Amino acid sequence: MSPDATDEDVAHVVEKVEAVGGEAFVSKGVVRTIIGLVGDIESFHHLNLRTLRGVADVHRISDPYKLVSRQHHATRSTVWVGRPGAQVPIGPDTFTFLAGPCAVETAEQTLAAAQMARSAGATILRGGAFKPRTSPYAFQGLGLAGLEILAEVGAATGLPVVTEVVDARDVQVVAEHVDMLQVGTRNMANFGLLQAVGDAGKPVLLKRGMTATIEEWLMAAEYVAQRGNLDIVLCERGIRTFEPATRNTLDISAVPVVQATSHLPIIVDPSHAAGRKDLVVPLSRAAIAVGADGIIVDVHPAPETALCDGPQALLGSDLRELAGAVRKLPPAVGRVGAGERIRVEGREQRP
Ligand code: PEP
Ligand code: MN
Repeated sequence: MSPDATDEDVAHVVEKVEAVGGEAFVSKGVVRTIIGLVGDIESFHHLNLRTLRGVADVHRISDPYKLVSRQHHATRSTVWVGRPGAQVPIGPDTFTFLAGPCAVETAEQTLAAAQMARSAGATILRGGAFKPRTSPYAFQGLGLAGLEILAEVGAATGLPVVTEVVDARDVQVVAEHVDMLQVGTRNMANFGLLQAVGDAGKPVLLKRGMTATIEEWLMAAEYVAQRGNLDIVLCERGIRTFEPATRNTLDISAVPVVQATSHLPIIVDPSHAAGRKDLVVPLSRAAIAVGADGIIVDVHPAPETALCDGPQALLGSDLRELAGAVRKLPPAVGRVGAGERIRVEGREQRP
């Protein structure tokens, strides 16, 4: 309350709070009075507390998100991706390696990239059929034809597939072709799309908006969760800062910050963060060391011909180096590595 608030002003606030079923704890100091509220935050919103006479400021102490918060679900969650019997876990006990081409270009290129990914130890295939490009003149992806290629390559290699959906109208057809739906950085706050993927019945990979705070990102996840879908994996993919040396700045601290406040798994995308292939291995090592639940990496059989993000795609010795790191480092931080057999929540990962 402001220093000149009267006893009547304080009593009025208490009355309003109690009228909506809340509790108000008044603490009177020499200069000012503080009122602590306990109860349903939504009902307090409707009171417009800031407009009441004598109120100086209102601060929220609890998290604004509920379903994705650790206050709601204390232990960290595991999300399972893929068909029953062949599911891959992403969560606190494992380290999951997702890889594939930025964009699906041809069946041959996608198959070659998937085979590279699998030989490097990846257990989930990524690939874009609908590409959210900054320029409307850039390659926009193959659309439905790309989804069909992804479904075929997923079946041929035995890898579950994640792909991005950019339009709520496409959610159903995308969900029919792949195992996990990705919402990209440019759509993180597209609330209609978030609700549509929440309704689709498939796990969701939610990338951080490039200018979003962690709280805004978790509120976006809350939109998905509110539709009854808690199979959400968060992905830190770099944020926009003043530093031009990298395409984005990988916010590595987002990993432990998210893990402290949300039960959802969180993975890191070093490819889209850096935009440069020479940084992908070092940033992947950092992601493993900081405790990320996985990484998602661009690979391409011929990056020089790639229609999207060629400069960040790995192949050859870089990919072998990454494969080595993904094999050796996760056990050092208490994780079961990619491709190993584990039991989590009574379920067994495929070998
Ligand atoms: C992608 O993963 O293909 C992609 C476009 O990523 P982001 O949304 O993080 O830019
Ligand atoms: Mn890309």
